[in-house]
Amino acid sequence: MGKVARHLDTLLVHAGEPSPLIEGAVGIPIFQSSTYQYRGESSHDTARYVRLSNTPNHIALHRKLAAVENAEAALVTASGMAAISTTLLALLRPGDHILAQDCLYGGTHALMFAEFPRLNIEVDLIDGDAPTSWAARVKSNTRAIYVETISNPLMQVPDLKAVASFARERRLISIIDNTFASPVNFRPAEHGFDLSLHSATKYLNGHSDVVAGAVIGHAALVERISHLLTRLGGSLDPHACFLVHRGMKTLGVRMRHQNEAALRIARFLEQHPKVATVNYPGLENHPRHQRARELFDGFGGMLSFEIKGGVEVADRFLSKLALPICAPSLGGVESLITRPATTSHAAMPEADRQRAGITNSLIRFSVGLEAAEDLIDDFAKALAAC
Ligand SMILES: *Cc1c(COP(=O)(O)O)cnc(C)c1O
Repeated sequence: MGKVARHLDTLLVHAGEPSPLIEGAVGIPIFQSSTYQYRGESSHDTARYVRLSNTPNHIALHRKLAAVENAEAALVTASGMAAISTTLLALLRPGDHILAQDCLYGGTHALMFAEFPRLNIEVDLIDGDAPTSWAARVKSNTRAIYVETISNPLMQVPDLKAVASFARERRLISIIDNTFASPVNFRPAEHGFDLSLHSATKYLNGHSDVVAGAVIGHAALVERISHLLTRLGGSLDPHACFLVHRGMKTLGVRMRHQNEAALRIARFLEQHPKVATVNYPGLENHPRHQRARELFDGFGGMLSFEIKGGVEVADRFLSKLALPICAPSLGGVESLITRPATTSHAAMPEADRQRAGITNSLIRFSVGLEAAEDLIDDFAKALAAC
């Protein structure tokens, strides 16, 4: 596909595909081989081996990922956390300092606060919505700024334009976890971010049947991260590459359905007398709705809400639902529902959760590909019964 301008849907299907097709196969074959015959390569780095992330399955997937986010390069990893940890460890050295948004994914928070201290890497948390407060936190050893496109589980949208320009002015590397938006709704490179990270476990793969991660961005940075990935060993296996590759071909149609269904469900919940609050950037009363409209091509498939009456009522509601499966994770074809205080944010101390606005009765919903009418019907019946 090269540099030919194409729509995202076309890139998702065609970008990175082998040319000519291998033996005419329309679906890329799975190269289930750990090692490859010597072809006269002069260094270890150019030998082909799965851990070096350079098999035909890796190369095709890297090209597709880079193309859909309009970025120079991409690298896949064994999980979203492998993408995050390898990236940060490649860019930060002992004595360095990083600014990070104050409502991080739990695994990222644990990496920064349980592991970084013994590596002598300092983390300062910042309010992603208060750019004027950031300058005072920058030190001579600050190297990077780290945010998430849409925060979990309250669906806040930080001032992403300000993050990218602040990083550029201060010569910091800007890193964004773009998992919740997916490349369909937000492409960080187009807004000046240096690196975009994904848990490909979620929307990119989209079928809740693989764990994988991705790093997308400037070629020089991706190359540095790739070298460390080879040393640390968190590479993705070819079969998982194939699954993510296959999943990405339908990302456009999946995400648009999920954007639309989530908005309809959010609107239904917003007007329901038993519902106290709904957090969804697509609702006009979301505090950063206008910003989300400017930045995103869609508002995503994730929302959270609170039912009046506290934890008992919330649990009764969950137990009455017929369609959504009670499980953590997100971005799959099946709707998933969870109470973050007992799952994704269970490790966070209760006081910190309360301060962050994550109440015990908050419910988080990942819309799947079911008909929105059926989901709304299911919600209406469960609300009536709780
Ligand atoms: C799930 C998730 C991760 C971690 O990804 P894994 O694939 O589970 O390692 C990181 N960031 C966000 C926003 C996530 O939702």
